[in-house]
Amino acid sequence: MPTPAGLCDHCVHQKVIRTTRGSAFSLCGRAKVDSRFPKYPRLPVVRCAGFEERRPA
Ligand code: SF4
Repeated sequence: MPTPAGLCDHCVHQKVIRTTRGSAFSLCGRAKVDSRFPKYPRLPVVRCAGFEERRPA
């Protein structure tokens, strides 16, 4: 997905939601368990206390 989501694009907590119309949204998975994090952060995220780098499998 070519979303310029900043840090989220490299974070283990990012969830990408795709719509049937071909749009895609970047969601923060941390929002479910921690109210400090918005479900839909304003993009691009350049700083985030919850960032954890996603490593290739
Ligand atoms: S924890 Fe931060 S960097 Fe990671 S997906 Fe959520 S908002 Fe983005």
